[in-house]
Amino acid sequence: METIRAKTGALAAETPFTSEEKTVSDIFKSILEESRSIEPWLVATRRELHRIPEPGNEERETSAAIGAILDQLEISHVNIGTGVVGLLDGPQPGKCVALRADMDALPIEEPAGRPYTSLHHGYMHACGHDAHMTVALGVAKLLTSRRADVRGSVKFLFQPAEESTGGAKPMIEAGCLENPHVDYVLGLHVAPELASGKAAFRSGPFYGASDNLEIIVRGLSAHGAHPEQGIDAIYISAQIIQALQSVVSRSISPLDSAVITIGKIQGGTRNNIIASEVVLTGTIRTLSEDVRAFLRSRITELCARTAEALGGSCETRIQASYPVLSNHALQTTIVREIAERILGSDNVRDNEKPTLGVEDFAYFLRERPGTFWHLGCGKGGESAITPLHSSGFDIDESCLAYGVAVQTASALSLLKAGTYENLRFALSQRILFM
Ligand SMILES: [Zn+2]
Ligand SMILES: [Zn+2]
Repeated sequence: METIRAKTGALAAETPFTSEEKTVSDIFKSILEESRSIEPWLVATRRELHRIPEPGNEERETSAAIGAILDQLEISHVNIGTGVVGLLDGPQPGKCVALRADMDALPIEEPAGRPYTSLHHGYMHACGHDAHMTVALGVAKLLTSRRADVRGSVKFLFQPAEESTGGAKPMIEAGCLENPHVDYVLGLHVAPELASGKAAFRSGPFYGASDNLEIIVRGLSAHGAHPEQGIDAIYISAQIIQALQSVVSRSISPLDSAVITIGKIQGGTRNNIIASEVVLTGTIRTLSEDVRAFLRSRITELCARTAEALGGSCETRIQASYPVLSNHALQTTIVREIAERILGSDNVRDNEKPTLGVEDFAYFLRERPGTFWHLGCGKGGESAITPLHSSGFDIDESCLAYGVAVQTASALSLLKAGTYENLRFALSQRILFM
């Protein structure tokens, strides 16, 4: 039997974990049982939200639905734009953990026939944000009946516009991480490639940084039969596109990750006119701020010199978008260990591969320590994986209770430990301080 008292040993008297008599596995089991007991409520909530998908910064019905549920749970809340910030205070003062759930949907038409098919023509929760909101609301529901266990407070950050403009940033600027001051942030994303009941974690860089690239190539127009009288911006653009391929393959270490994609070319007016201007637009993805900074300067220099060598000119505009999402080691280890206790160690993957996709939870992790993890939502077995951002996407709704259990236990554990020193100590002893 793994009791906290047995594990803490001589140091126990100086830690906040000494009064607990229950075994760690008993506590986690009871949290999972409680999560499962509210499964019908979770499913109904998810379906209610799934039916009303809205694009970024227009999540008005979603915002109202969340507000109504928080009212039912007697959790105070305020709005920041279409975002909602709920606050649950425990009876004793302490730290504050924030759980973030993104709210927006995608411009995808959902196929008819599901009992919870979107009522908003042309929009669908095809990235699982309905599940993320449901998990956060489920944690809120569970904690209202466990308020006495909350040492400090839990903040619920329902955030707009993850898919488009990065709604996390304006929410932070509006002060969502203050009053009370948030100490840790937790977030998750459903993962269809993992079966429900499984989870995946990664410490360090997990999602890429994104920069929007625009290259304006200028030449000189002339008759198509007399190229020597002009400067061909299309030819220069072709050389620039070729040259850009050398940046990732020749200018950065093979052990670093980066992508430069030109996704759009616009230029020229007619088949027999030398084009005077071409605009290339694309995206730059990186997994470290150093590589990001290097690519910005290398691309600008390479484009300018290539254009110059061919007699033209070039203006490169690089606009920063989402930063690298980098998980903090301590919080990642804690939540992973909790997931192992709740889901079983066979169901938890560590060192999940990073992706050059982006996720604006990165902004929260730049401000506060925390972790972002993947909650399996696939149907498992022989079922085909229906990818995120596709009209076929759907979740196995049993994943909701697992998400609620892991997030609830993680929030309670982080609050219970109080200080970083205690967290480190608890981890070193492999106790989970509930
Ligand atoms: Zn998405
Ligand atoms: Zn998403």
